[in-house]
Amino acid sequence: MKSRAFTADAVFDGWHIWPHAVIMLDEQGYVVKFIPHPDDRQRRTAEYFAGLLCPGFINVHCHTELSYLKERIPRGTGLVNFVLQLMETRHDPIFSPDIKLQAISLADQQMQQAGIVAVGDIVNTLDSLPVKQSTNLYYHHFVECMGVSEEIAKQRFEQAQQLAAAWKAHASFPATITPHAPYSVSDTLFRYIALQGESLISMHNQETAAENEWFLTGQGSMRRLYDALGISFHQAAGCGTTSLRHVLPFFFEKNTSAHKPCQLILVHNTFTPAADIQWAAAQFQPDIYWCLCPKANLYIEQQLPPLKTLMTFADDRIVIGTDSLASNDTLSVLEEIKCLQQHFPFIRLEHLLRWATWNGARALHCENQLGSFTPGKKPGVVLVSSIHQQRLSSESRSQRIA
Ligand SMILES: [Zn+2]
Repeated sequence: MKSRAFTADAVFDGWHIWPHAVIMLDEQGYVVKFIPHPDDRQRRTAEYFAGLLCPGFINVHCHTELSYLKERIPRGTGLVNFVLQLMETRHDPIFSPDIKLQAISLADQQMQQAGIVAVGDIVNTLDSLPVKQSTNLYYHHFVECMGVSEEIAKQRFEQAQQLAAAWKAHASFPATITPHAPYSVSDTLFRYIALQGESLISMHNQETAAENEWFLTGQGSMRRLYDALGISFHQAAGCGTTSLRHVLPFFFEKNTSAHKPCQLILVHNTFTPAADIQWAAAQFQPDIYWCLCPKANLYIEQQLPPLKTLMTFADDRIVIGTDSLASNDTLSVLEEIKCLQQHFPFIRLEHLLRWATWNGARALHCENQLGSFTPGKKPGVVLVSSIHQQRLSSESRSQRIA
């Protein structure tokens, strides 16, 4: 089969950066060979690109169905206000099904253009189904479940089961039931979800300081959220532990037997205390991924996660997400890692790219096809421009070239 060859100033294979390496692909885009140290002839016959080539990016956390809410919710007001505004705006009748679908379609196209090849997409509806039936991206659908009152747990869980079944029936991607967040899911509902035995779960975690305050003391602005929504308080209020320590055991306590353990993607982690990271890594490490969505964190809480601590205890489990256009101006993994590099200048490019490719592919269970230039995979080839001395610049752009 006729193959194509690419080279660039630097090539990242999923783990390391190799100057002037060569990637060979077959006509369908499958990797035939990765040559870290090509000879002159191999280099000359390859098509050259100025910049860095890497496998397609993995966006581990997104809500494509909220794409119509771009620039609708004010910045910097904190999570409680953000959630209240989101719930109010989300159901505004000015947003017709057509407007929503167009926004989802555009988001899907823009992610492809920015070099993203796979997405962990939170779904509460079937709004994005028509797009998912014709997309070139790989999606894992996380069917989100929430409900603070213990009494509605069974009903909410059954609704999620029905939605997950509809996703599986009408789209070719996996769909697993997932809790929204510790503060919005009752203990009973957590138990239902955990007993479902899903292989992959995602959960918003410690996105605001108010979440831990509620669990530790039963005080703080979370009370305002429950009041404004007219719902009963979360019963774990004042339980004396952080939210993460309260909920993680639900997913792992039954796994002492021959059950295959579930894997859990914790999203945001903006206010996760160092002691919680160390505890979770020691207890559950192989099964926990830490997803960072820095631009959404700056949009909502104007705060970034404790990256140094995460790198110390879980560097090979850090992954990247964009969150939704309700809390971000782009759905670009490159823009997220540029943001991280800007705020944490000590991080090496190799780490950022690994989080954005190989780690993400493992987190979404698609590493057999995506995430590295390994022969037999079809990971996509992305060109990242304007890299100076192994650092991204503000002008760096990403673009799919194969
Ligand atoms: Zn989210």
